[in-house]
Amino acid sequence: MSDMASYAPGSPPSATAALPPGAVIGVLGSGQLGRMFAIAAAQLGYRVWTLSPDCGSPAGQVCEREVVAAYDDIAAIRQFAACVAALTFEFENIPAASTRAAASLTRVRPTGGILEICQHRLREKRYLAEQGFPVAPFHEVNSPAELNAACTMLGYPAILKTAGFGYDGKGQARIRGPADLAAAWQSTDIPERVLEGWIDFKCEVSVIIARNIRGETRTWGVMENHHEQGILAMTIAPARIDPSIAAAAAELACRIAARLDLVGVLCVECFITHDGQVLVNELAPRPHNSGHVTIEAAPCSQFEQLARIVAGLPMGATEISQPAAMVNLLGDVWEHGEPCWEAALAIPGVHLHLYGKDEPRPGRKMGHLTVLAETADRAVDLALAAKAALRPNAS
Ligand code: AMP
Repeated sequence: MSDMASYAPGSPPSATAALPPGAVIGVLGSGQLGRMFAIAAAQLGYRVWTLSPDCGSPAGQVCEREVVAAYDDIAAIRQFAACVAALTFEFENIPAASTRAAASLTRVRPTGGILEICQHRLREKRYLAEQGFPVAPFHEVNSPAELNAACTMLGYPAILKTAGFGYDGKGQARIRGPADLAAAWQSTDIPERVLEGWIDFKCEVSVIIARNIRGETRTWGVMENHHEQGILAMTIAPARIDPSIAAAAAELACRIAARLDLVGVLCVECFITHDGQVLVNELAPRPHNSGHVTIEAAPCSQFEQLARIVAGLPMGATEISQPAAMVNLLGDVWEHGEPCWEAALAIPGVHLHLYGKDEPRPGRKMGHLTVLAETADRAVDLALAAKAALRPNAS
């Protein structure tokens, strides 16, 4: 940290001025989202620094500088913020005190206030419900007795979730009936919990919305998402749903972004019910896994768009040029050894992204494949074929 000052770009720019090429953009967090952001920002001529507790991280490998510090190390955050012309984040669990400290020294997009709402499931659900946005029925539960009472009110099945620090289906337990109550309580071992009514959805979709300092918005349409064990497995763009429902989901995302006064990129994950209702499941105020298809399928990806917004440049075009499918590559793909990259890449039109992680643990996101095709169904077939080709000997 001691030599950071020598890289300082000078005094912070005004809120609206466009950053010149060569300016430093800081990212809090250093996973694959930070990596893909850094690649896009570097293409626009910016230098990207990352701060996280990890060394040799996915983002750190492609950034100009990798600062290793804890997210609650206010002195380190202040020093970092003082050296960058603008700051964004790719990880949600940054303490509010840290984003506040950074905001006194540099341009932070989106604001820490939005992060605070979205990093806590209960706060987020309350915010959405209070603002009149449709969400699944929920109750805060603080004891086994409250859980019991909430289940009686919401009915079975229900789903118990930790209020903070949950992602990719972690910190969740499905409750099918009273016999599951005790185990569900124990498995979500964190002080604050929220019980949600089970939504028997027709499909899951997401809308990624970009909004700039002038309040202009862009979306990439609606993405169709398929999860396995709570983890995103595949995204299809555009979603194969009724156009009027897609329009309603996109409009809902625009209203949420405006209400939050977002300056940045926000993912709105939704359930579509069998009778065509759109319910908001979760918000993520950053690029999202379901937006990875935008790298190849749109003129301006979610990562480049965030870089443009953070830098104060005009937003890029977001029309999906061709149907696309993205499949995640979890550590499980490495189960029988190194995947056969040549076989997947021999399929025309397959794009491979690997995140530079060296430990392929089950459930860990290691990379993804994207395929564009004439139809969404064809893109799905090719993406699944490419994934299967990675493990030629798997049964
Ligand atoms: P989350 O971490 O809240 O995004 O949940 C991960 C996944 O669990 C979602 O993408 C859904 O597939 C499933 N899920 C979460 N909440 C519910 C719910 N209330 N009803 C049905 N499925 C749910």
